[in-house]
Amino acid sequence: MATTAKAAIAADEQQTPAAFGTVFTEKMAVCHYAQGVWSIPEIGPTREFSLHPAAHVFHYGSSCFEGLKAYRWKDGSVRVFRLDRHVERMRRSAGILCLPDPGEQRLTAMVRDAVAACRDEVPASPGSLYIRPTMIGTSPDVGAAGSPASDVCLFVLLSPVGDYFSGGERPLKILIEDEHMRSTPEFGSVKTGANYVSSLRYAVAAKRDFGADQVLFCPGGDVQETGASNFLLLNDHEIVTKPLNDSFLHGVTRDSILSLARQLNYTVTERNFTVPELLAWCTDGEAALTGTAAVMTAVGTFVYRGKEHLAAGGRIGPNTRRLREALTAIQTGTAADTQGWLAEV
Ligand SMILES: *Cc1c(COP(=O)(O)O)cnc(C)c1O
Repeated sequence: MATTAKAAIAADEQQTPAAFGTVFTEKMAVCHYAQGVWSIPEIGPTREFSLHPAAHVFHYGSSCFEGLKAYRWKDGSVRVFRLDRHVERMRRSAGILCLPDPGEQRLTAMVRDAVAACRDEVPASPGSLYIRPTMIGTSPDVGAAGSPASDVCLFVLLSPVGDYFSGGERPLKILIEDEHMRSTPEFGSVKTGANYVSSLRYAVAAKRDFGADQVLFCPGGDVQETGASNFLLLNDHEIVTKPLNDSFLHGVTRDSILSLARQLNYTVTERNFTVPELLAWCTDGEAALTGTAAVMTAVGTFVYRGKEHLAAGGRIGPNTRRLREALTAIQTGTAADTQGWLAEV
């Protein structure tokens, strides 16, 4: 159910924060593409769209999106985390889906202008503003199964979010799935709804049958990622994660954590590894998920072929905690942003 940021603030004051992603700012940015040209982006009210039932996105899945965050620092300034990386990734997703290139400047300006228009609604830490740029094919043509959408809508939706761990932080229970794939070997790095819906039934079954929070996809034993987060193994001196290829999403959080880990003198090893290696590592090492929404979350339990295996003794390990705190300190302005990751709006 959608609600406004003001309602959410009222709810927050009553100590009942709204669920992540269900509250939106009063304004959003919208731009249209038709006959080969983009319109001038506009900031307007966040409200329903009117789309023809034959719109390309409804039938042939022409959609991609991004997820990034803006933070309000103690001095009142508002900063967007690694905007350049997210813009680059969305342009790449659009290209693979045969959607038009939104352009670096246009997309960057739309995000900045939307956040600036809603500056007052950006929550202070530990809250943040979740930013959801989205692109959909709108041409009304069910005959266009074999051709790209000629009309497109690009919008930037904004959602003020509270503390992800407000309910108390708890290590996750993850089902290891080594038979089925989340996506395909070529399509896995595209940020598109199609990849979510293609893996959804495995997540639903894992929850129903094992009470698992998420599924870790390891087709043929190759440990990849969960439905919406990247996966890392860590201990006191090393981080191990799969090297980038087209089978999984190239997370900006993954990249940021690896960069911080190098600075903190961990050995960062990007290599393929198998499920038995993962389980052996976790007898005394840690495992964690990374992604914009939760930043970095510890795995406490794996379920593999019906049997439970603890990771880090079922607790949140010290290295997971340390790296997450190092990243959130930069995002929220309590540690120096030495790499220029934050763009002030
Ligand atoms: C968005 C996403 C991630 C995390 O990427 P971040 O840039 O760190 O937010 C990981 N896996 C999938 C499948 C995703 O869609």
